[in-house]
Amino acid sequence: MSIKAALSKVQRIPEVQTHYNVFNYVNEMASSQLKSIEKRNASSKPLAYTVAAVKDNIVTKDMPSTCSSKILDGYMSPFDATVVSLLLEAGTVIAGKANMDEFGMGSAGIHSYFGPTFNPLFKPEDQIVTGGSSSGSAAAVAAGVVDFALGTDTGGSVRLPASYTSTFGFKPSYGRLSRHGVISYAQSLDTVGIFANDLATMNKVFSILDKYDEKDPTSLSEELRHNFRSLATKKKSLKIGIPEEFSQESVPAEFRATMTRIIKHLMNYGHEVYPVSIPSVKNALSIYYTLSPSEAVSNLSRYDGLRYGYRAESDIENGTLFTPTRSAFGPEVQNRIILGNYNLCSESFKNNYIKAQKLRVQLINDFDSAFRFPNVLSGNTVNKDGVDIMLSLTSTSFPGNYDEVVNKENDNPLNTYINDIFTMPMSLCGLPTMTVPAGNAFGIQAFSQHGNDYELLDACYEIN
Ligand code: GLN
Repeated sequence: MSIKAALSKVQRIPEVQTHYNVFNYVNEMASSQLKSIEKRNASSKPLAYTVAAVKDNIVTKDMPSTCSSKILDGYMSPFDATVVSLLLEAGTVIAGKANMDEFGMGSAGIHSYFGPTFNPLFKPEDQIVTGGSSSGSAAAVAAGVVDFALGTDTGGSVRLPASYTSTFGFKPSYGRLSRHGVISYAQSLDTVGIFANDLATMNKVFSILDKYDEKDPTSLSEELRHNFRSLATKKKSLKIGIPEEFSQESVPAEFRATMTRIIKHLMNYGHEVYPVSIPSVKNALSIYYTLSPSEAVSNLSRYDGLRYGYRAESDIENGTLFTPTRSAFGPEVQNRIILGNYNLCSESFKNNYIKAQKLRVQLINDFDSAFRFPNVLSGNTVNKDGVDIMLSLTSTSFPGNYDEVVNKENDNPLNTYINDIFTMPMSLCGLPTMTVPAGNAFGIQAFSQHGNDYELLDACYEIN
C-alpha cells in the first residue's frame, strides 16, 4: 500500500460520484488525512495507506449516518461503531459513507433517499443497478476508489451486490464482527460484511475486525472463538457439497456452464465434490419475510422525530408526535412496517411468526446434518462424513437496467424479493459465506458451517 496509490484512488472519487452516485457523504479531508499518516507515526499500522468506504448504516462520529433515509437526514452519531474504531486504529482513512437501500431494505440499490447507485462495470448511461442493499460499498470497490468497503448483510446485501459488481463479498458468521454502532434492520440476521477486489485484502481486513466486543450482546465470546480455532483443520483435499435445492433451470446458461467449469477445476485439483440436499431451503424466503419485517418494525419504532434526525414541520408546530414525521420513510420501508406489524398481530403471530421460528430451526438442523464442522451453538450431532464447504450461485440473473428493475418491482414486489433466494438460507443460519467473482457481473457463493470462517477463507483461494 503506497501513499501515491491511495491518493490517486481518492482523487477519482468526484468523477465516479458524478456518474454512479456511490456515496451519501464524501470525506473531503481524506487526502490530507493520508498525507498526515507519516507525521502521525502511523505508517507502520497494518492498514496504513488504505482507503475504505463505510455503509451509511454503520455509525461514524465525524460524518453523518443516514441509512439513506430522510428520517435520519444529517444525523450525527456521538460515537464510532466498533468496526469503524478498529479500522481507524489500524490506520485506514475512511473516504465516505456509502449509499444503500433505505435501512438495508432492498436488493437492487434503488431505494435510497439520495437516489440509486449505478454499476461501475457498465457505462453510466446504461444505468445498470449494482444490487443492494450495500450498493455504494460494492460500487466503490468495483470502481477502484477504495481498497475495501464495509457493508451489512441481513439476507444477502453484501453477497448480491458483490455478485453484480464482480467483487469479493464476505458475510462472516453471525456474531463474529461487532454490531455495536450498526443501525439495526433485523438484529437476529444483521451481519457486518466486507467487500474487496482480492482475497489478501479481504483476509487482512477480516482479521482486524474479527474481535469479541463486550458492547455487542451477540458478539461471540473469546471461548467460542477459541473453540472454532481448535476445530479448524488445514486440508489439502476439500469435501465440497453442491446443494441441489439451489440449482434452478431458469438461471442464465452462462451461470450453469461456469458452475460446471468451477466444479471440474476443483476436482482436477484433487477436491471431492458431492451433491447434497438441504430440503428446508425451499422455506427460506417465507421464513425471512416473516421474521425480518417483524424485527424491523420494532427497530424502526425508535424514529419518533424526537430522538434522532428528522421531525416533520407540522409535528413541531402542533407539538404532536409520530405520524407526519414517520411519513418520511420511503415506500419499501413502509411496506415492511405494514408486513411486520401484520406478522406480529395475535392471530398471525401464532400462525406465521412462531411457525417461521420453528422452520428456521429446521433449516439449521438440515445444514448441521450436512457439514463436517460442528455447530457449537445448536449442539446437534456432528456428521463426521459431512462436507467442508458448499457452493451455489449467488444471483438468479445478471443485473438489470434501473427502469426495468423499478417497473418489475412495481408490477409485484415479490419479483424483487425472489432475487435473494440463494442468499437468505445462510443468513437464517448465520453461516459464513463469500461471493467469489466468476464472470462479468456474476459470482458464486462458497459457504461453511457457523464459526468455520477461516477454513472457508482458505477454500476461496482454491475456487478463485
Ligand atoms: N433484500 C433483502 C431485504 O430487503 C436483504 C437485504 C439485506 O441483506 N439487508 O430484506
